[in-house]
Amino acid sequence: MKEDFYDILGLSKGATAAEVKKAYRKKAIEYHPDKNPGDKEAEEKFKKAAEAYEILSDPDKKARYDQYGHQAFEGGGFGGGGGMNMDDIFSQFGDIFGGGGFGGFSGFGGGGGGRQRRAKGSNLRIRVKLTLEEIANGVEKKIKVKRKIQAPGTTYKTCSTCNGSGQVTRITNTILGRMQTSSPCSACGGSGQMIDDRPAEADMQGLKATEETVSIKIPAGVEDGMQLKVSGKGNEAPGNGIAGDLIVAIEEQEHPDLQREGNNLHYDMYVSFSEAALGASREIDTVSGKVRIKIEEGVQSGKILRLRGKGIPSINGYGTGDLLVHVNVWTPKTLNKEQREFFEKMAKDDHFRPNPESGEKSFFEKVKDMFS
Ligand SMILES: [Zn+2]
Repeated sequence: MKEDFYDILGLSKGATAAEVKKAYRKKAIEYHPDKNPGDKEAEEKFKKAAEAYEILSDPDKKARYDQYGHQAFEGGGFGGGGGMNMDDIFSQFGDIFGGGGFGGFSGFGGGGGGRQRRAKGSNLRIRVKLTLEEIANGVEKKIKVKRKIQAPGTTYKTCSTCNGSGQVTRITNTILGRMQTSSPCSACGGSGQMIDDRPAEADMQGLKATEETVSIKIPAGVEDGMQLKVSGKGNEAPGNGIAGDLIVAIEEQEHPDLQREGNNLHYDMYVSFSEAALGASREIDTVSGKVRIKIEEGVQSGKILRLRGKGIPSINGYGTGDLLVHVNVWTPKTLNKEQREFFEKMAKDDHFRPNPESGEKSFFEKVKDMFS
């Protein structure tokens, strides 16, 4: 059962807006975490009081609460327990205590001392075009990258604003007593260091632009649109900061003959009527060199020959795709007189009438056997 909001603030039902405000100020001061360090119960009461005030300080919400109790807010935006976090509560303080001095408050959770932030240099992005062969075999690319590095001769000194701690602590006298506010130092960006001296070529951060050749190892099996990260090869950061990363976007160049589908490759092979009838031998390009393919006599158009392991290796190292050779029988679009007579003679021959049922399966098995 949820505690009554009036009870939480020590009020009786129907208290006025002024009474609510006064009661909440009292509770907020009593249970403020700065006055009760490490006291979970006080923090809980502090939150509950804030939640009660959130409702009772709003005339509309107060009217709904007076009529329906907690049910008025169930399932709504403010339902359930723990609906407010400390930031909400402190932003609420503005209208109770006046002034906006609580903006940077971050004293909760304890142990906030001396945290330095190491600045990180910005990331760089490049695109790398790869051929299908390079993708199939993996490749090392040497690429010129324009990046910022720390200019030699730049010297640093301890930030005078935060004395090197990276944090600025402010003591504010408030109605709640002396409050300690700490936030990252804006003068040094939280690093605790500032530039003392820099050469003329350096920018405000003591960095200068250079062109560097970066060697990038690209593993076999990458795909168009994939991004690889080369740690620390982005722009450097000033002082004790860490360099950003170099993000390499993969672009796959189209192959003149091979089409990629996942890790499998497809190749369209065209054979003539005669080759289909008599059989043939063809040399084709694959990603791992030329391969001679034997076309059995009597091959049907649309047959697929599978060359196991002649595709793209999986980027995870689990196996390699296949090369699928699609056999297409090429039909001439025009015929001269003799050719026409030849085919007209054939057309009357029952032997050339399509008869897919007979021997079709055994043929396919034969092709499979040939490449297994
Ligand atoms: Zn500083």
